[in-house]
Amino acid sequence: MTDIADLVARRAKLLGPAYRLFYDTPLHLIKGKGVRLEDADGKQYLDAYNNVASVGHAHPHVVAAIAAQAAILNTHTRYLHEGVLNYAERLLGKMPAELAHAMFTCTGSEANDLAMRIARQHTGGQGLIITAFAYHGVTDSIAQASPSLGRYVKLGEAVRTVPAPVQHPGEDATVVGQRFARHVREAIADLQSHGIQPAALLVDTVFSSDGVFTEPVGFLTPAVDAIRAAGGVFIADEVQPGFGRLGDSFWGFERHGIVPDIVTMGKPMGNGHPVAGLAVRPNVLAAFGDQCRYFNTFGGNPVSMAAANAVLDVIEQEGLQANAHRVGAYLNEGMNQLAHTHPAIAAVRAAGLFMGVALADDAGLPDGAGAARVVNALRENGVLLSATGPDGNVLKIRPPLVFSQANADQLLNTLDDVLRSV
Ligand code: PMP
Repeated sequence: MTDIADLVARRAKLLGPAYRLFYDTPLHLIKGKGVRLEDADGKQYLDAYNNVASVGHAHPHVVAAIAAQAAILNTHTRYLHEGVLNYAERLLGKMPAELAHAMFTCTGSEANDLAMRIARQHTGGQGLIITAFAYHGVTDSIAQASPSLGRYVKLGEAVRTVPAPVQHPGEDATVVGQRFARHVREAIADLQSHGIQPAALLVDTVFSSDGVFTEPVGFLTPAVDAIRAAGGVFIADEVQPGFGRLGDSFWGFERHGIVPDIVTMGKPMGNGHPVAGLAVRPNVLAAFGDQCRYFNTFGGNPVSMAAANAVLDVIEQEGLQANAHRVGAYLNEGMNQLAHTHPAIAAVRAAGLFMGVALADDAGLPDGAGAARVVNALRENGVLLSATGPDGNVLKIRPPLVFSQANADQLLNTLDDVLRSV
């Protein structure tokens, strides 16, 4: 038995007060393989949470690619290297043809930060529109555009928020899309009334921190039109939904039938290796390219590119997008069945293997405390997930893409038991 209390105390002493832990009893993980994680006492967990190890924990092909390149050379993008070019070519091949340049960073935060610098240089504006409970990262400028960090984070003076695109019963994409666009136009007008020219609308295309909003497909178009009409650009943050997780499309923006001006990526891109980046339209990048130079010591290095390249190999060779589609549909159906027996489940919102399950109390109000109890009880019963949304009441389910139907059954059965007992 490891002493959890000792580790917690040591962590607080060494890392200080800003770090947070999951679960009433923090988890001390030491190993992972595929969809399974193992703690220091040898207990196994089904991972239904970690979208970073997207092709499975410790995938041997990715591990081998990292080790092989590390044994040969690791430098940076001031030297010529085919790794970064081959990967850029392959990544851009997964995008609409309009997005013809790729740039690399180490984190999603840096990718969003760089995207904003590019957008501001291109448009000459400063204004940024995001959703009300967005999370886009940790740099100073992007933390100021991440209201989900909490009330102590002050939003930037040029940042405006709009309500997330909630679908009420019976509403189609036109209704949801027009409402979302109206909010965006109001934000644009407010920026302009303060003398601020809009630079960008930046959204996570599955709105994960806002509570997961995946339907109805197509609702983004009017808002994208609105920001462009005001001289701004549309930035799709694909850090959460990207790389095949949504099943029916490789990217979240693609699912909505739009072509962004900039696409930012991260998390699953290196299956845990820190690699991130963006794709951009050449005309949007031109002003930044003229006036700034870009160098990122680690971004685009040969080892990172080998990791990212190997991730694409696995997604393609193991048919993981199709698996996300198939198993996601199975999980969605099972979750909707559970909703019939458990009134606590107020809504199930999903695309492929990205799912939000909203919990409500007896009065029908968002039940964040209930969701916390469910998350902790699931952990005790060997299943890992978490909760999201402004009320913390939405179970966030994003397993590695190698999740099988049997894994989905384990998740559903355990959740069924837990919902009976908490
Ligand atoms: N965008 C979104 C939508 C995210 O969820 C995150 C990370 N949770 C980021 C950006 C920032 O990525 P990173 O932690 O790699 O900086």
